[in-house]
Amino acid sequence: MQKVTDNIYAETGFRGCNPGFVVTSDGVVMIDTPQMPVDAVKWREEIARHGPVRYLINTEPHGDHFTGNHFFEGTVIAHEGTREAILASSIDQLKERLQQTAPENLPLLEGFSYHPPTITLSERLTLYVGNHTFQLINQPGHTPYQVAVYIPEERVVFTSDNIFHKVHPFLHQAVPYQWLDSLDRLSQLEADFLVPGHGSVCTPSYIPEMKAMIQAWIDAVSDAISKGMTLEEAQDKISLLDRYPMESSNEAMGPMLQRMNVARLYEVLKK
Ligand SMILES: [Zn+2]
Repeated sequence: MQKVTDNIYAETGFRGCNPGFVVTSDGVVMIDTPQMPVDAVKWREEIARHGPVRYLINTEPHGDHFTGNHFFEGTVIAHEGTREAILASSIDQLKERLQQTAPENLPLLEGFSYHPPTITLSERLTLYVGNHTFQLINQPGHTPYQVAVYIPEERVVFTSDNIFHKVHPFLHQAVPYQWLDSLDRLSQLEADFLVPGHGSVCTPSYIPEMKAMIQAWIDAVSDAISKGMTLEEAQDKISLLDRYPMESSNEAMGPMLQRMNVARLYEVLKK
């Protein structure tokens, strides 16, 4: 676990997203939860040392950010699109996946439920807890439902997966041009540190590099479309894995992710 500022902690070593939490004068506010139940239980013990969990914010609609909600108290807050994704998630599929990839987690799934948000936002929501302010801002990009969590008193933003720091980004549900705009809006927040969805904690100086990565993806697929390639031809030809590696826990997925990213951009850019 990393202490980002006096009151903010984040874990970048778990499999899945980077969960974090903020210690306020009136309890703890969590941002995302560990994907693996064994990690969620460890994380719960860690957080308990800092106080009771008051709120839990999910930054986006992918399971690596919300599967661990089950293990925590606190009122869950997320974008309404994330609530829909959570309500549509299948516990049977989760069990099947863990059975194949990480069966040591299965005993912890007794009585499992997804613990969906009871408070949602579509554009903005401001939460005041103790002496801290949490500005939740919809920033479409990695999906339309991304939420950045800005804590001005600490000068920190939890960016969601709109920032993948030096690891390969997932674009399979991306809105690519809005992503570029959202990164501009992100750079306007007065922050010293960004806690990205994946990869190590970074500073706002990384934002231009992230924009360049998204632009490189747009350019590669636009080029293939303008040359008249079919989707399959574009998928066979395009790989940007030499730019950034996969996260180590996901390494085997690299070639498949390239095809998923191409498929999404091909569909969006063809319009
Ligand atoms: Zn994601």
